[in-house]
Parts: sequence; structure tokens; C-alpha cells
Amino acid sequence: MYYGYIELIPKQEYDSEVVEALLWQFLCALERNGQITKAYTIVKEQNYRLFVTFTKEDSFAEGNDGFYVRQNREKLKELFDLTVTVLGENLSSGRYCTCGERSALEMVTHRFDEDSPFVCLDCGRSVALYELPLLGDDVYDEDYTVIQYWQENYSAIDTLWMNGLCDRYSGNQLVKFDSALNKQGVLLAKELEKKAGCRVYYHLSCAYGKSVKAKKIGQDHIHYCPSCGELMERKKIAGLYTEDFCHTCALCYDAH
Ligand SMILES: [Zn+2]
Ligand SMILES: [Zn+2]
Repeated sequence: MYYGYIELIPKQEYDSEVVEALLWQFLCALERNGQITKAYTIVKEQNYRLFVTFTKEDSFAEGNDGFYVRQNREKLKELFDLTVTVLGENLSSGRYCTCGERSALEMVTHRFDEDSPFVCLDCGRSVALYELPLLGDDVYDEDYTVIQYWQENYSAIDTLWMNGLCDRYSGNQLVKFDSALNKQGVLLAKELEKKAGCRVYYHLSCAYGKSVKAKKIGQDHIHYCPSCGELMERKKIAGLYTEDFCHTCALCYDAH
């Protein structure tokens, strides 16, 4: 969530067409590894400046590089010195988790979300993707693209609903726990859980004009799990917000 720029100070002559292609690849790789957020650009003055939002203050450190970032950084370092200037906090991005250990994660997003879709349930903040295990075992699965594809799909469907269509298709995709969109998300959450060594809860929507089963207890309406049918457990997360959880199915809803 720190906005700033990476400046490239030339060490030798270079071909600007080759370098510019390399810079876009580098930025894309940084984003796919969760080191920067989506909104980035290149400004060419005397030197190239890459304007980015770093997810954490030290997210650009080489130790956080994934396979593709490392490949591109090495090529750039032959031609340039890379320096970082942080201008301040970017308020369109959230604060990130700095917990040493995390007892559980939640997978959640919405159409304006620019951050990682994983939230630490101990501090309630986003978790930088590069701090999480990679999902694939394949040599080509060296970043978090598969998670970002799901996030982009979710944002697209949420936008379709919110921008006025309010149709049955987009509403059902968001609310039904067994819709194609939510099945894709649950599958990814389960895969991450196997590798992360902690529970990964998948967040379901419960608005969008669709009725979701709940039990009135005092002033509260506690949700039933849409998968196993059991009453969920209401929990406050880091004193920030309250959600209902099914620990058997690893699903959760916002509390009402
Ligand atoms: Zn945390
Ligand atoms: Zn359940």
C-alpha cells in the first residue's frame, strides 16, 4: 500500500524498444507475484520511472521475488541500477498483515478490491501473495495468476450485478455456494489450505436480493451453512468485523 517509483539509472547504452518490452514484463511479473498492485505505469523522462503501489514497505526486496520477477530483474540489472522512492501510503490499497504466524485465512474479494484476496483472520489485514505457498506443482506454475484469474472473474460478475443488470445469473454466481464462480474459489482455497498449513475459509456473499437461511437469536440472524446445513459460529475478527463460520466446510458469511 505504499505508492512510489522505481527509477532506472543507466549503466550502459541500451535499446529502448527492448527495454520497454522488458519493463512491462517486469511489472506484470511483480503484480502476478503480489509485490505490487494492478495500477502501475511507466513514465519516461530522462530516466525510466515505474510508478507502482508496493503491497508492503519491503515488498520490492529481492528475497520476495518469484521465478519470473527474478528472471526479468536480472536482465534489467545488467543495464540499470534500480532505486526505490516511496512517496507515501496509497489509500486505495489496504494495510498488509505482518503477523509472524497466522492461525487462519479468509479468501474474499469484491469489485473494487486491488489487494490480495487472502485476509489474515488474526489481524484482519490482507496477506501479500508472495508470502503464501504456490498452488501448482508444475514448473510453469511459478506465480499466483490462477488466483488472480478467479479474483478478476469475481470482480467482473460483481460489476455486472452492481452496474444495474441485477440479473438472476450474476446474483446466483455470487450467492450460491455451488455456482461455477464459487466452486472455482472453494477449490483454490482448499488447495492453498493443503500447502499453507492453516485453515482457509472461503467467503460467500449473502446479499444480492437472494435469501440465505439464518436463525434469529436475540437481535442477530446467524446463518446456516449452505453446504452442510449446520448453524454457523459467529466470531469477531481482530475487533474489526463480525462473520459467521462453518468450520466443517470452511465457509463464511458477513454477519447481519
Ligand atoms: Zn495478520
Ligand atoms: Zn458447513
